[in-house]
Amino acid sequence: MSYEGVSKKSVSCACGKGRVVLTVSENDWNQVRESVSIECEYCRNVYRIESKYCCPKPMHDYTIYYLVEIDNPGNKRQLDL
Ligand SMILES: [Zn+2]
Repeated sequence: MSYEGVSKKSVSCACGKGRVVLTVSENDWNQVRESVSIECEYCRNVYRIESKYCCPKPMHDYTIYYLVEIDNPGNKRQLDL
């Protein structure tokens, strides 16, 4: 079974020179998979992606993504993805 990329969304990375990209893929059974990648040489070495899954029933579930500084986890910014 294979996933196909159906949509992409991106926001500026922390330094502003690259992008943080969210790719949403769907397989034949309509299962959705999301992945986030940092497409910036600098930020890839400094930050990591953290995600938080939210399921506020009866509302639709969603995932919040954060950019977290590896050496300073207190520095955390929410991504508008
Ligand atoms: Zn960057």
